[in-house]
Amino acid sequence: MAEILYKYKDSVYANITNKCNCRCTFCIRFLKDGIGDTDTLWHQENPSKEEVLAAIRNYDFTGHDELVFCGYGEPTCALDILLAAAKVAKEEKGLKTRLNTNGLGCEENHGNIVPQLAEVIDSVSISLNAPNAQAYEKVTRPLVPSAFDKMVEFAKLCRDAIKEVKWSIVDVLPENQIEECRQLSEDTGIPLRIRHFS
Ligand code: SF4
Repeated sequence: MAEILYKYKDSVYANITNKCNCRCTFCIRFLKDGIGDTDTLWHQENPSKEEVLAAIRNYDFTGHDELVFCGYGEPTCALDILLAAAKVAKEEKGLKTRLNTNGLGCEENHGNIVPQLAEVIDSVSISLNAPNAQAYEKVTRPLVPSAFDKMVEFAKLCRDAIKEVKWSIVDVLPENQIEECRQLSEDTGIPLRIRHFS
């Protein structure tokens, strides 16, 4: 059985769903079954809200002050669970909450989800993955139309409503694309984090 909560490096992560609306070429899900202290992050069946809340309530977070929503799937594809779980993490466990997302949650949930996120999420990291629509389509292979524009729009909505928001890319992008990402970051006022791809 896949764990709902797992540790990777110094953080605790919540793996609330395996559903995703992208098929990124680099996705770790296609390379191995688990990371951190768990053998598999593939759920036999996606967990219910009750199961996720129980996992958080029963987990010993000693030494950790944050819960990160990021697993083998896109957390906003289980928005109801994400919101409830983040509320419990904050109110009952006194944790900060971070959402790692592909930025397509508004499209997935047919409306602006940022006001709801802002109530329970302290920081958001959005996978930029590529600096323009053409490159983005190639690398993330999204299941929603005009995904790049929608992801950028989501990032701007988050920037205006949530304290800490950043874009992330991995350092395997060609230098000219990294430079374009830096430009987009500057133009939008959303910081860019360049992660090492391992
Ligand atoms: S958005 Fe995340 S979980 Fe979904 S395919 Fe891309 S890397 Fe994998």
